[in-house]
Amino acid sequence: MTAQAQSPGAVGLPRPETDVAVVGGGPVGVFLAVLLAQAGVSVQVVEQRLERSAHSRAIGIHPPSLEALAGAGVAGKITGEGVQVRRGEARSSGRYVAALDFAAASERFPYVLTLPQLRTEAILEARLKELDSHALVRGVRVTQLHDDGGRVRISGVRTGVPGHSGAPGPSEDLELSARIVVAADGARSGVRRLLGTPCRTRALRDSYLMGDFADGTPDGSTAVLYLESGGIVESFPLPDGIRRWVAHTGQLLTGATAADLAAMVKERTGVSPDPASNTMLSAFAVRTGLVRDLVRGRTVLIGDAAHEVSPIGGQGMNLGWLDAAALAPIIAASVDGHDVGASLAAYERQRRRAARVASAQARLNMALGRPLDPALLAARNAGLARVLRSPAAGNLVARRFTMQ
Ligand SMILES: Cc1cc2nc3c(=O)[nH]c(=O)nc-3n(C[C@H](O)[C@H](O)[C@H](O)COP(=O)(O)OP(=O)(O)OC[C@H]3O[C@@H](n4cnc5c(N)ncnc54)[C@H](O)[C@@H]3O)c2cc1C
Repeated sequence: MTAQAQSPGAVGLPRPETDVAVVGGGPVGVFLAVLLAQAGVSVQVVEQRLERSAHSRAIGIHPPSLEALAGAGVAGKITGEGVQVRRGEARSSGRYVAALDFAAASERFPYVLTLPQLRTEAILEARLKELDSHALVRGVRVTQLHDDGGRVRISGVRTGVPGHSGAPGPSEDLELSARIVVAADGARSGVRRLLGTPCRTRALRDSYLMGDFADGTPDGSTAVLYLESGGIVESFPLPDGIRRWVAHTGQLLTGATAADLAAMVKERTGVSPDPASNTMLSAFAVRTGLVRDLVRGRTVLIGDAAHEVSPIGGQGMNLGWLDAAALAPIIAASVDGHDVGASLAAYERQRRRAARVASAQARLNMALGRPLDPALLAARNAGLARVLRSPAAGNLVARRFTMQ
């Protein structure tokens, strides 16, 4: 299920001195580095992996993120490769329940775009390389930080870069120093641990099985939510004639096969994805978390390192990008010598609030997808249909679903 994807070689040594060091070269760290490099700030991203992870995660990109990606010069490439989902439809027991139209949700990007995270990351990485070919260095794991009040000294280990034979070389210690450190090192952030800043995480009871299959449905670019008494099944179009299926499961089904997921989809929805066409399968459970302090001395936590939200609703990566878009001008002003204390305090309040809103939205999405007694389900679906028949309510829900 987990694979390693080829990415442009960015193996080397980080610059010993930089204005901003970003720990973690995932989608959020690389996006922030693009914004900083565009603003003329010297930035060094250090990423422990030698290659991008191909473990399939985010696919949904919402209109506010597309605006932010436009500011980073990549919206054209990303929208050119992705599928524009302009309509979502809820069905139940083979019948239409309600529809959501995303067209009214944004003037410039009247859709949710779907593109596998791996492709999105590759596009961001290529953009960063274009701006500064040395801004991302792979194969460096950060192990220590020391903030002396003026700069932060960062210690790391260069993780066994393969030699000519392909065998991993010896590890070596290295140091760099930065005026500001941004931790974009993911949900299990080591920097967060080093800073000792508490993060309240909670494991939720929901679990899901998801997989990508050839799209044999007539649904084109429509996203479909099947609200069924056995639990929700979600279905999203992806580029290249692929459709992602996500089913709520009673427990984490780590040993499940593509045939198991296809059978579950068939039983609940009547649609039969072809197991032979499966290209990705993953079982996941849900955790949420929010760190107490987003800013600690000269270090700022962003993306999943700062907040983890349930993947149901597809907001985690988007939330991290919006952190980065709000933070980049503050960092640029700080590097220019401005006092940014008040802006940072406002940033912290605003981004914590955004994380809470996203988390609440995700909890609502999950509640909608839990198994339900057929009579209660029918009553709830009828209520949902009534609400969404009102254009004003439909527009409001569409805006909420698209992070606006
Ligand atoms: C099944 C699933 C579906 C999802 N669907 C969506 C969706 O549709 N839309 C959406 O917005 N979000 C979605 N998400 C969430 C999204 O994948 C994450 O929010 C996103 O990857 C977070 O990006 P990040 O850059 O903050 O962290 P990560 O992607 O975790 O990147 C962190 C990087 O830091 C590196 N790192 C860690 N520690 C160190 C260290 N000490 N030194 C150097 N490097 C280090 C890691 O190797 C990693 O590359 C989904 C998640 C899952 C699991």
